[in-house]
Amino acid sequence: MHTIRVGDTVAAPGEKKRGTLQVPGNHDPDYNPKIIIVNGAKAGKTLVITGGVHGTEFASIEAVTRFANMLDPTEMSGSVIAIPVANVPQFRERTQFVCPVDGLNLNDSFPGKKDGSFTERLAYALFDVICLGEAYIDCHGGDINEDILGFVVAADSGNPALNNASLELAQCYNTGFIHYFPAEPGLSISAQKLLGIPSIMPEAGTPFPVTEESVLFHVEGLMNVLRYLEIIEGEVVRYQSFVSPERIKLYSSHDGVWESYVELNQRVEKDEPVGAVKNPFGDVLEVVKAPERGIIGMKRCYYSVKNGEMLVVLSTF
Ligand SMILES: [Zn+2]
Repeated sequence: MHTIRVGDTVAAPGEKKRGTLQVPGNHDPDYNPKIIIVNGAKAGKTLVITGGVHGTEFASIEAVTRFANMLDPTEMSGSVIAIPVANVPQFRERTQFVCPVDGLNLNDSFPGKKDGSFTERLAYALFDVICLGEAYIDCHGGDINEDILGFVVAADSGNPALNNASLELAQCYNTGFIHYFPAEPGLSISAQKLLGIPSIMPEAGTPFPVTEESVLFHVEGLMNVLRYLEIIEGEVVRYQSFVSPERIKLYSSHDGVWESYVELNQRVEKDEPVGAVKNPFGDVLEVVKAPERGIIGMKRCYYSVKNGEMLVVLSTF
């Protein structure tokens, strides 16, 4: 039985405590993320969860908050440490991908630096919490230009046992497909390579509106992971999702208006049209075709588009 301590926040076995994670250095103290420690009455594994590493991916934030509130530490064997809004400045200002304080992408800044700019210091402070876990889940979703129905990224750290462990975490989510991303420094899931902790990034939702469906994708997956880690009792549901070998991003070659022809998670054949870019008169400037057979994993949700901006991400199979 052990007490969990993160800075000033201390939870004895059987306790749930709320507090603030102190990021080193000088900045607006409101930028320090909130933290919830749920310390089970009985010993077991520790799961660390972050939401809002991209602060506009709101379904992940709603899910982590709701999940932490659902947990009863007196019935748990093991613990959960949750940070619902990791990137507070981005959450407030709703900037796309980057933190408005220094223009850095937090999910390109791990493991961070103690004396770096704000985002680097934030990554450093988060990694200090992540290292307390036996598993790490970084909840994401579509950023403000994106919509995602739901998939999971498992970390590939080059170690077969750890890769299999992250795949098993990913298979706790009701997702059609899984990707492996290299666990290289930058991404949060580099924790798998740098700290030896199996790490995944579930992705679901779009910021406007936050749908119950995308929140439940995260919440139900997290609950299933808790059963898998034997932190709570119950039967684990294992989803036999396939691992997609490649993500292909399709970009616009024109300024104009984006019209999608496809739905999320729709399967398309090679050369099938997935959408068009039009000029302001409504004339088609380009028809965008799938370069390979695949699943529509992510879609642009803005009506307007600039030359070079992302339209669709295709996950091959
Ligand atoms: Zn993200």
